[in-house]
Amino acid sequence: MQLHYDAIIVGGGPAGATAAIRLAQAGWSVALIERESFPRRKVCGECIAASNLPLLEALGIGEAFASLAGPELRRVALLSGRQMISAALPAAPGAQPWGRALGRAQLDTLLVARARALGVTVWQPCIAHSLGGAPGAYCCELRSVRSDGEARSGPDGSVALTAPVAIAANGSWEPLPAERVTLHAGAGMRTGADGHAGAREHDLLAFKANFIGSTLSPGLLPVLSFAGGYGGMVIADGGMLTLACCIQRASLRRARRANPGLRAGEVVQAHLQEQCQGVAAALSGARRVGGWLAVGPIRPSLPLAASGAACGHALAPFRIGNAAGEAHPLVGEGISMAVQSAWLLCALLIGHPEVRGRGRAAHEAQRALHVQYAVQWRRQFLARMRIAACVAQLAMHPGVARSLLPLLRRAPGLLTQGARWSGKIRGVRGVSEGHQENT
Ligand SMILES: Cc1cc2nc3c(=O)[nH]c(=O)nc-3n(C[C@H](O)[C@H](O)[C@H](O)COP(=O)(O)OP(=O)(O)OC[C@H]3O[C@@H](n4cnc5c(N)ncnc54)[C@H](O)[C@@H]3O)c2cc1C
Repeated sequence: MQLHYDAIIVGGGPAGATAAIRLAQAGWSVALIERESFPRRKVCGECIAASNLPLLEALGIGEAFASLAGPELRRVALLSGRQMISAALPAAPGAQPWGRALGRAQLDTLLVARARALGVTVWQPCIAHSLGGAPGAYCCELRSVRSDGEARSGPDGSVALTAPVAIAANGSWEPLPAERVTLHAGAGMRTGADGHAGAREHDLLAFKANFIGSTLSPGLLPVLSFAGGYGGMVIADGGMLTLACCIQRASLRRARRANPGLRAGEVVQAHLQEQCQGVAAALSGARRVGGWLAVGPIRPSLPLAASGAACGHALAPFRIGNAAGEAHPLVGEGISMAVQSAWLLCALLIGHPEVRGRGRAAHEAQRALHVQYAVQWRRQFLARMRIAACVAQLAMHPGVARSLLPLLRRAPGLLTQGARWSGKIRGVRGVSEGHQENT
């Protein structure tokens, strides 16, 4: 079977689904390939910055988001040891000044359902097993995923899609098929076999769990600082607390030794409760819903982004979301970067219909767009990636962080300013509330 589209998008997370919706709104035929069945939980802090709310409106899921998401996030706090300092979060301009949290099971499902409703062909659960060709003529071989998570090969299991435009929105846990050494069908810990370097002591492993019955104040966004890691807590949809963190491999190993017999997630929970009194207080009387999820190591990619290589190069698919560059999750800007980078790229693609053609002209048009996209990407995201990297280093050294506490206590507005610098209220140009272009 051979099927032709204007664009193939690999990955149905916030980046891929946003791109699919934008292109479909502009009349493109789109194939969106997602390996996992939705709804699915995902390691993420689940905070969505206020800067994205007009964008969700424009994508057509604003109302659903408003009815589902947790309380407005109006304050940020720094938790370290027994200390807590809180400050106002900056208000975004417009009618929706505050961010909110929504579980990824809900958010990702809403976005993909919206893409499907706009006519996008959603191949799910399917793995993009290979992606070959070049701008103007890409070919992607799909494998459907069996219920046990393995890719199904053979005559019934594989399909080939072609398109002039290909977009990599496959996140950061696996390389794009073209770059992959070994395919891992299930989410999980990266190993040396997946094309990344082997285990390192300072690798950051990411964890997340949900709890009901937490005493965390709704609307407060605490950032956790502890030796060898950082994290965050928030009340999301249905009053559910999301607790997510990153911890260095060496710190996790020490914590495991101190908590023998516990599973990794439970060790992390015990460690967080011990290191940050505010976590113990928020979880007292709370009950965990579902298991701890873990992925990693995460490799925030500032050098790649700085050189522009993260945004792709002239002869490769366009990259959006984490596939283009990953900020330290401490600042909770990954979903913003996913949705906003998709928006930036799609504005360029829609404005240059010649990229949908075949042959040399399409090839040249895409080469030019790669350059423009890389420039815009860096303008939009590089500063927040650098801020995230600095703040993450501070948070992982609580001795240093604590030496700043007296200053922060005297001037809590510095926390507000830090949130502003990390991109919390920086949207993309050309989006206004109520905007429903070509829907
Ligand atoms: C601990 C932690 C806390 C975080 N907290 C926040 C937060 O509070 N706020 C925030 O904004 N961001 C946060 N982030 C970051 C955020 O989760 C990511 O930046 C975001 O998920 C990136 O979106 P994406 O669409 O680029 O990639 P993803 O969400 O990773 O989506 C990629 C999709 O591609 C699919 N895929 C991959 N390969 C293939 C293939 N070959 N074929 C088919 N499908 C494929 C995957 O199944 C996946 O669904 C956090 C991250 C971590 C680790």
